[in-house]
Amino acid sequence: MEKLTIGLCPYCGMGCRFYIKTLNGEPVEVEIYEGGVNEGKLCPKGLTALDFLRHNDRLTKPLKRTENGFEEISWEQAIKEIAEKILEIRDKYGPDALGFFSSARCSNEENYLLQKIARILGTNNVDHCARLCHASTVAGLAQTVGAAAQSGSYDDIPKAKVLLIWGYNPAETHPVLMRYILRAKDNGAKIIVVDPRKTKTAWFADMHLPLRLGTDIALANAMMHVIIKERLYDKKFVFSRTKGFEKLIKVVEEYTPEYAEKITGIPAHLIREAAVTFATAGRGIIMWAMGLTQHITGTGNVKALADLGLICGYVGKEGTGLFPMRGQNNVQGACDMGALPNVLPGYQKVTDDEKRKRVAEIWGVEELPSEPGLTIPEIINKAHEGEIKALYIMGENPVVSDPNTKHVIEALKELELLVVQDIFLTETAKYAHYILPAAAYAEKEGSFTASERRVQWNFKAIEPPEEAKPDWEILTMLGKALGLKFDYESVEDVTREIALVAPQYRGITPERLKRDVEGIQWPCPSEDHPGTKRLHVESFATPDGKANIIPVEFKPPAELPDEEYPFMLTTFRVVGQYHTVTMSGRSKALTKRWGEAYAEINPKDAQKLGIESGDKIRIVTRRGSYECKAKITKRIGEGVIGVPWHWGANVLTNDVLDPEAKIPELKVSACRVEKV
Ligand code: SF4
Repeated sequence: MEKLTIGLCPYCGMGCRFYIKTLNGEPVEVEIYEGGVNEGKLCPKGLTALDFLRHNDRLTKPLKRTENGFEEISWEQAIKEIAEKILEIRDKYGPDALGFFSSARCSNEENYLLQKIARILGTNNVDHCARLCHASTVAGLAQTVGAAAQSGSYDDIPKAKVLLIWGYNPAETHPVLMRYILRAKDNGAKIIVVDPRKTKTAWFADMHLPLRLGTDIALANAMMHVIIKERLYDKKFVFSRTKGFEKLIKVVEEYTPEYAEKITGIPAHLIREAAVTFATAGRGIIMWAMGLTQHITGTGNVKALADLGLICGYVGKEGTGLFPMRGQNNVQGACDMGALPNVLPGYQKVTDDEKRKRVAEIWGVEELPSEPGLTIPEIINKAHEGEIKALYIMGENPVVSDPNTKHVIEALKELELLVVQDIFLTETAKYAHYILPAAAYAEKEGSFTASERRVQWNFKAIEPPEEAKPDWEILTMLGKALGLKFDYESVEDVTREIALVAPQYRGITPERLKRDVEGIQWPCPSEDHPGTKRLHVESFATPDGKANIIPVEFKPPAELPDEEYPFMLTTFRVVGQYHTVTMSGRSKALTKRWGEAYAEINPKDAQKLGIESGDKIRIVTRRGSYECKAKITKRIGEGVIGVPWHWGANVLTNDVLDPEAKIPELKVSACRVEKV
């Protein structure tokens, strides 16, 4: 029998809808759903989103590591043994010897349950991969505007008169969003792209500012210097809705465009032009992604962009906003659910006694831990040092996604217990003591939250293969085995509990989400509330309702070129692959076109090195070496090597952390290049 089920793309944070066509319960093809935020359009990843579902590599049975390798084990036995080991480790070493990696690829309900397990066991050592992508956004926006989320909606984009796209390449990472951007361009908006590479997005820009790696703050400060000197800032907005402007004036005083030119490499006249174009447009949006956030100054970078938007009055109004663009399909939701070491669901601080007590009451427990826990890089470091003894990983692949991957592998080998719950035998799962087979997106139900805070229901279209189970079901089994009161009978029970715990989700029920398949944008305070298109309209989410303008000083990247490592290395993504290629790498259509690792080298550098396009090269950093083909292109500037990170390039990247958000400096390393 043929059937159409409304599907939700499992890849990026755009939140695209499509139909999953099935025949006798088996997936056949993606069909266009004429609606949703994607308006019936899909990128190559969305169009091939069924390809990996029935792949032969799917995990289908729980596995246990033995002397003879992995052996099948029953669910009952696996969950019993894992629970016993977790409790044994907690009782022997204390709850903070446990660590939990949640997942931006799992539903809100699944993230909610994993952090709940961690916290009831007595630790806040729970984190997820936002640590590696937007932790600095969460920290930077929380401090400036008080809400760690996109302030407007995609609908605001075509209404803007200027788009400042910074360290972000939507043409490849959120291709469907480019339709909104090009509509803005058609409506007369100017597009300014700030990126060291001449990305596909930059081809559509009116101005491209190819700044030196890691010099974002100097450029933003110089733009604000011009805007203030030329009195182009929004005086009414600044004086009525913000605090801290006087301090900003002092800090940006020295960042003349000429001074910034020396740091950024962008000619002073272009900095002036960009600043004037941005400030005089009347309605502007700033969009950013990992090119901005993955730096030791990531939080400072976000604060600088927030300051820039605030002094121009570009927040809380139609056609304006601060738009961090989320990489994975539920990064926003995983953060909202408190899969973070310092906040409970709904960004309620673990240090806030009243909020913690209220959540403990709902969960029916005496108390919850009040000290912020460890972040992903810290958990890895502590595992390396022998202090973290057990790590439970749901849907993450740190052996490929984290910086300095050799260090990650060494840390995983130290653990007394490593559990990996995933849909494939990932590079990380190979080091596990237990592997639990999970259901993929089309095989389960639950809610996901896209970049614009849009919560949508994910409908089940097909059955999971063999014994694979939805992550929420696995966590419910585990919770019960750990002795917790986890009496959920359906995923909807969890959705309803989320509404009780997270204030932003109060009016979001499974019934509403199933009825209104195009979703609800949080905050949604009651069941009759339509959801919120735009944040900060009348006041900011800060205690006094005013935004904090927080000036920041430029600080160079942790590694700069030297004699031994004369090049700068940066990483990026390609349109036809996704993250660590666990899913997209199992699509023949995608891998045929985007299946090979390569490195971009500027023609002048290639000539000096005697390298031609297609030559095999070795890139070496202080942490490791990586071989791939050379691609000679002017897309990348002189002195910079650019590598898509999907295929293992993180063996090279730097794990030094931003002190505030603990995000690693994945975007800048010193390297050398050798012809193999
Ligand atoms: Fe999926 Fe993102 Fe492509 Fe939309 S833009 S189809 S959500 S990968």
